[in-house]
Amino acid sequence: MNKIPTQKLSKPIVEKVAIVGAGPGGLTTAIALQSQGIDVQIYEKAQEFRPAGTGLGLAPNGLNSLDAIAPGIVETLKSSGCQVIHTVLKNIKGETIRTSQTKYLEQYGQPLLTVWWYHLQQVLASKLPSDIIHLNHHCIGFDQDDNGVKIHFDGQKSVDADLLIGADGVNSVVRETLFAEGKPNYIGSMCWRAVIKYHHELFNDYELIFVIGNKQFMYIVNVGGGYTSWISRKFLPDYSLSQNADEVKSRILQELADWDESFRAVVEATPSEQILEGPICDRPPLTHWSQGRVTLLGDAAHPMAPAMSQGANTTFEDAYELAQCFSHSATLEEALSNYEQSRIDRTKIIQARSAWGEMRYYDHTFTSPSQTPQRQMTLNDDFHKWVYSYKPTVAS
Ligand SMILES: Cc1cc2nc3c(=O)[nH]c(=O)nc-3n(C[C@H](O)[C@H](O)[C@H](O)COP(=O)(O)OP(=O)(O)OC[C@H]3O[C@@H](n4cnc5c(N)ncnc54)[C@H](O)[C@@H]3O)c2cc1C
Repeated sequence: MNKIPTQKLSKPIVEKVAIVGAGPGGLTTAIALQSQGIDVQIYEKAQEFRPAGTGLGLAPNGLNSLDAIAPGIVETLKSSGCQVIHTVLKNIKGETIRTSQTKYLEQYGQPLLTVWWYHLQQVLASKLPSDIIHLNHHCIGFDQDDNGVKIHFDGQKSVDADLLIGADGVNSVVRETLFAEGKPNYIGSMCWRAVIKYHHELFNDYELIFVIGNKQFMYIVNVGGGYTSWISRKFLPDYSLSQNADEVKSRILQELADWDESFRAVVEATPSEQILEGPICDRPPLTHWSQGRVTLLGDAAHPMAPAMSQGANTTFEDAYELAQCFSHSATLEEALSNYEQSRIDRTKIIQARSAWGEMRYYDHTFTSPSQTPQRQMTLNDDFHKWVYSYKPTVAS
């Protein structure tokens, strides 16, 4: 990773920043930039903050970045989410193949924390004045020139800013307006998921249950507050979507037909309309994330398969580094160039590794005796160390 200059400038290089997207990326970036005295406004297409998103695993690299931006926030998240102590690998009959203790805290100074996307959004939004978050603002594009950027919304007035940050996720309109790439890339993994109020009496609260089947897997995890997140993915070279919510539920139950009742029970307990069915997608890495007065962050910049649980974690790194580049660069151009240099190479590697990891779950040798926990650890150790030991170097 390139080193960012460490001399801090007194006057912000931009006065007014517009962020599209009030997900983890947009909100964290707003907190970081606001603390530098920058006027930040966030535009979110949702009409209200509502229960959405999946259960996320937050790892030391993401948590350290969050804490550098908003000191103390990890403590709040610990009470909102759940710390994982053990990961338990099971077969579809419900038999335990192996149990491993998570060593993140000892090795990297932060635990593996599970939290619901929606609760994370609420915690982050609570750190910002509510009048800077503009809901019901669906961005449809922008125009820019040397003096500023004008952002356009469906059915709402356009707004002006010195800089636009696209934090609008994998189907980013901002990215599409910049680079016109079209649809994201389906990677061959189909997903069904939900977060529900549910307690599984067979599973311990501090365990992440990972069930491996034939080219299919499921994980069940406590995300705090009495909520359980379940996610099931299946290798499907082509995919089709179900016609309605009831069809989604019967389809996933059909996919799990041979699975132990303890795993099917959580799906059966989920109301049909709360099950989300969708393809897992990424996009090829870009060589640049910025053009003029517009840049990208989080999934808009580097959407990745969830196999390594790094999407949100690397997004927090982005937010931290972007804010650092703002406070230590003389011009906007220099700040965005430093931001790209510090982020693109790292996220490119994690994107590639995540796509590989997703397919690795479908490989029949995943649970074979030669892949003992020790052997997997050796193969992955250096890489995991590089990912998790990322440490923000200068406090914002
Ligand atoms: C099944 C699954 C499991 C995952 N597990 C993990 C995990 O364990 N750990 C982890 O770190 N990551 C995980 N991820 C990835 C993680 O969810 C994302 O990386 C993270 O949410 C990215 O944050 P973001 O703010 O960039 O984008 P998003 O979370 O997608 O937020 C984008 C926001 O922008 C808004 N928006 C979109 N378009 C517009 C528009 N045109 N105008 C205005 N607003 C708009 C959306 O409504 C949303 O609020 C997982 C993803 C999936 C699908």
